[in-house]
Amino acid sequence: MGFSTIAIHAGNDPDPTTGAVSVPIYQTSTYAQDGLGRHKGYEYARTQNPTRAALETNIAALEGARFGFAFASGMSAIDAVLKLVTAGEHVILGDNTYGGTFRLFSRVLADYGVQFDLSDTSDTASLEQAFRPNTKMVFVETPTNPVMTVTDLAAVSDIAHARGARVVCDNTFMSPYFQRPIEHGVDIVVHSTTKYLNGHSDSVGGFVALNDEADAERIGFIQNSVGAILSPFDSFLVLRGTKTLAVRMEAHDRNGRVVANFLAEHPRIEKVYYPGLASHPQHELAKRQQTGFGGMVSFETGSLDNAKKVLENVKLCILGESLGGVESLISHPASMTHASVPAEKRAALGITDGLVRISVGIEDVEDIIADLDQALS
Ligand SMILES: *Cc1c(COP(=O)(O)O)cnc(C)c1O
Repeated sequence: MGFSTIAIHAGNDPDPTTGAVSVPIYQTSTYAQDGLGRHKGYEYARTQNPTRAALETNIAALEGARFGFAFASGMSAIDAVLKLVTAGEHVILGDNTYGGTFRLFSRVLADYGVQFDLSDTSDTASLEQAFRPNTKMVFVETPTNPVMTVTDLAAVSDIAHARGARVVCDNTFMSPYFQRPIEHGVDIVVHSTTKYLNGHSDSVGGFVALNDEADAERIGFIQNSVGAILSPFDSFLVLRGTKTLAVRMEAHDRNGRVVANFLAEHPRIEKVYYPGLASHPQHELAKRQQTGFGGMVSFETGSLDNAKKVLENVKLCILGESLGGVESLISHPASMTHASVPAEKRAALGITDGLVRISVGIEDVEDIIADLDQALS
C-alpha cells in the first residue's frame, strides 16, 4: 500500500461500538472489568488507551516499524530511548542535535553515569574514532538543525552495528514521508510529533518506532513505569494530522525549494543552508537518502543587525520557536533554540548571530516570498 493509504487507514479502523469513522477520544482513566482477571485488554489508561493505541499503530506503520509508542513530548520519547542505556555505558551524540537533546545528556543523564561524546556523524572517519569499548548507542539527527548537515544513515548503521551499538535517528525534520531511517539500517526512530507529524502547531508530543522486540518491550515497560504518555486528546490531534502528512509535506517541500532558491539569489544573503540546493555539500547524499527536502531553510544575513532587521520586519512569517506547522515560522537560532549551546561551539557549527531559520509553511508561496523580500529590503 502507498504512503497516503497507510497514513489514512493504519490504526484508523471504524470504532467497533458505533462505527465512528474517526477514532474517538477515549477520555477515561480506567475501564470496567467483567470479573477478576477478566477485561477487554484495557485496565488503566496510563497503560492502555484506544486513541493512543490507534496513533501508535499509525505512525509505526508510516515508519515501517513493528512497534510504536506515543509520548507526552519529543523529549520524553528521547528520554525513554536513552533509558535503554545504563550507568557506565557510552553514547555517541551528533554534535549538532536539537538543543534539548544535548541538554538532556549534559545536564540530566550525565548525573546518572551515562557517558557521552559529541561527534560530527556526517564524517564517518571521525565517527569511527569516537567509539569506545562501552559504546552502546549512536544518536543522530539528519538533516541537522539549523545548518542542515546530512548524515549517511546506512554508513553510520554499518559502523555502529559492527561495534555492537544501536543507532537512533531523530527523524523530526523529514517525517516518515521524506525519510524512513529503518530502511537504511537504523534501529530506533524518534520524533517530536509537535512538528510535522501533527503539523498544526496545536499539540506537543513524541514518538518512538522500532523493530527489535526486546527493546520494544523495554520501551513499553518504561512508558508505563514512568508514565510520560500522550493524552487521548493529543493522540486524536496527531492522528488527524498524519492523515494529511503526505499532502502537507509535498507543499512544504514545494515552497521550501522556491524560498531556498529565492534566498540563494538574493544579493543581501551570504549563504543558504538547504539540502535541496545543488550547492549544498551533501546534496547527492540527501537525494539518495530522502525522497524530498522539506521546508526547513536557514540563511546567513552577515550580522546580528541584519538578522534583527529581517526578523522584526516580516509580517506574514511569525517570529517564534518550533517548526513544521502549516504557518511559516521564522527564528534566530543563536538567541532562541540554540542559546544553551556555548558561543564557541555555535561558531564552530556555523550558528552565527546573523543566521536566520525559516520553517516554510504551506501558504501561497508568492506571499511568503513577498514577505521575505520586503523584510530584506
Ligand atoms: C522539537 C524537537 C525535539 C523536542 O520535541 P518536543 O516535542 O519539543 O519535546 C526533538 N528533536 C527535534 C529535532 C525537534 O525539532
